[in-house]
Formats: sequence, C-alpha cells, structure tokens
Amino acid sequence: MGKASRDKRDIYYRKAKEEGWRARSAFKLLQIDEEFNIFEGVKRVVDLCAAPGSWSQVLSRKLYLPSKQSPVSKDGELPLIVAIDLQPMAPIEGVIQVQGDITNARTAEVVIRHFDGCKADLVVCDGAPDVTGLHDMDEFVQSQLILAGLTIVTHILRPGGKFIAKIFRGKDTSLLYCQLKLFFPVVTFAKPKSSRNSSIEAFAVCENYSPPGGFNPKDLHRLLEMVGSPSGGDDLDCSSGWLEGPNKVYIPFLACGDLSGYDSDRSYPLPKVADGTYQSLDPVQPPIAPPYKRALEMKKASSHGIRDLEKLSLDA
Ligand code: SAM
Repeated sequence: MGKASRDKRDIYYRKAKEEGWRARSAFKLLQIDEEFNIFEGVKRVVDLCAAPGSWSQVLSRKLYLPSKQSPVSKDGELPLIVAIDLQPMAPIEGVIQVQGDITNARTAEVVIRHFDGCKADLVVCDGAPDVTGLHDMDEFVQSQLILAGLTIVTHILRPGGKFIAKIFRGKDTSLLYCQLKLFFPVVTFAKPKSSRNSSIEAFAVCENYSPPGGFNPKDLHRLLEMVGSPSGGDDLDCSSGWLEGPNKVYIPFLACGDLSGYDSDRSYPLPKVADGTYQSLDPVQPPIAPPYKRALEMKKASSHGIRDLEKLSLDA
C-alpha cells in the first residue's frame, strides 16, 4: 500500500505526520487526557514500552517543554520523564531513555534509581507484544506486560497516582479489572476515538493508587492469584467477576476523544492542494532499530539472488 493511500485510509496516520508525532498512538494518549485530565499536577512520569516515542513526545510537549519555557515550580525543578523500551529510540527533549525489558526486575531497578527516592505521579504503559493473531495467546502475553507494568507501579507510584495501561479486550477482561481494582479504587476501561473499533485494544485508566493496607510488593503475584481463584476472591471483596447472573461484573468501555472528531475506521479524502497533487509526508521519526529491520534486509537481499542472502546470514 502506498503512503498516500494510507494517508487517505488512516486519518490519524496522516495527522500524526502533519503535527510532528512519531506515531498515530500519540492521539490515543491525548484523547485519554481530554477525558481524564491525566496530566494535572504531574511532575514525574514513567513511560513503559515507549518506542518509537510518540507518548514520550506527548509527555515532553505537555509537561517538560511548558515547564522549561516558564518554570512554575519554586525549586526550578523540571518534570522528570523516564521512558523504557526493548528497542532504542531517537532522543526526545526532556526524556531519559532506558533500553530494557519491563518484565525484568533489573529494568525496574534502573527506573527506580532515576527517581532517586522520589515517587512518580503517573505511569503509562502502551506495551504490546508482536501480535500472532491467536487471540488467546495475544491476550495472555499482553496481560503479562500489564502485570510487569503493575509490578513497577507498586514500587514507584505515589499513593494517589495514576496508571494508564493498554489492554486487549477478551474473556479475561473482568479478571484484570478486579485485579486492578485491588490497587485503584477507580478503574475505567477507555476506548479513544483514534483506536480503531476493529482493534481489540483499549486502555485501563486507573486512578488514585491505594494499595491494600500492609501490602508488600513481594506479595503481588500471590494477591493477584487470590483474585483469580473463585474462593480467594471472596476474601478480597472482588469476587463478583466470578459470579454469574445479576452479580456478574459488566465493565463499561468509555469512548474518549471528541466524539464528533475524526473516526479512525473511516477513510477521508486527501486535502486539496493548489496544483492538484497531494504530497504525502515522510514519517516524523522512523524507528531507529525496529525488530523487523533484519527481515527487511534479508528480503531485499533475496530479491538480489540467493548468494547475497547467504552472505547476509553469515555476516549476522
Ligand atoms: N507508546 C509508543 C509510542 O507512542 O510510540 C508505542 C508503543 S508500541 C505500540 C509497543 C512497544 O512495546 C514496542 O516498542 C515494543 O518494543 C515494546 N515492548 C514490548 N514488549 C516489551 C517489553 N517486555 N519490555 C519493554 N518494551 C516492550
């Protein structure tokens, strides 16, 4: 598919390039903010699974750059934004980058060190595994990323803080909802306008971090498993997700973003230009080392003959 046809088919892809965002995902975070005001009073943020960096750009533009231009804090301290991903990403002003796996305890330690004893006001996680198309498998791997995100949250988020995490809607959504409710009295599942209806993704917006009394982050897994077992759930008063009939939990999905704004599932005509030829823009910042890079190199080499491909494999 050509760039111009994608511009026509995907309005948020085109708008992202026009507004200088590295990915169309930026609009998802902006639309979540429109509904939930997530940046209010925020000085310290962790962006988990951040590459290629459009959410980090939003954080930089909403928090860091305004503070740098007109400092509001008396101590002159600028907002702290720490971004983590498996992949490296091109620099963003005001964003500290950590390359690592969020499921690895050492990554969490590196993040915590950057906070120097302080706590974060907001943790966002847009993590997604390479989707296989096997729904149950994708949902499971996604839930492992949320769990890793929640583990970092329990170490770094201040009481009262917020956690925004990408989820995949599926049969275990109510279990996840109950698990998140253990830590956050207010949990809303949101579907921004820029997230296609055809996509199973949604976002858990968790507000007012309040871990259970006496909670020790080391007990996280045990606690979550208790919610996952029909009898254990009773003790935690979060059992209704396991009940049937009128007691079953129905989780509302809240649409967010201007509802009369652009629809991500619709095609829009390209804007009219003076000479009649619309010039498609290049991506703002292509990923610098995407996991598919080598596959593309090999595909290119194979089109030049099998010997080149073999040479490429040997060079690896
Ligand atoms: N929020 C990003 C943005 O706005 O540019 C897009 C994130 S992209 C949808 C998902 C990211 O999750 C990928 O960059 C991928 O490398 C990252 N990811 C997946 N598993 C991860 C893991 N275990 N640790 C760190 N990052 C991970």
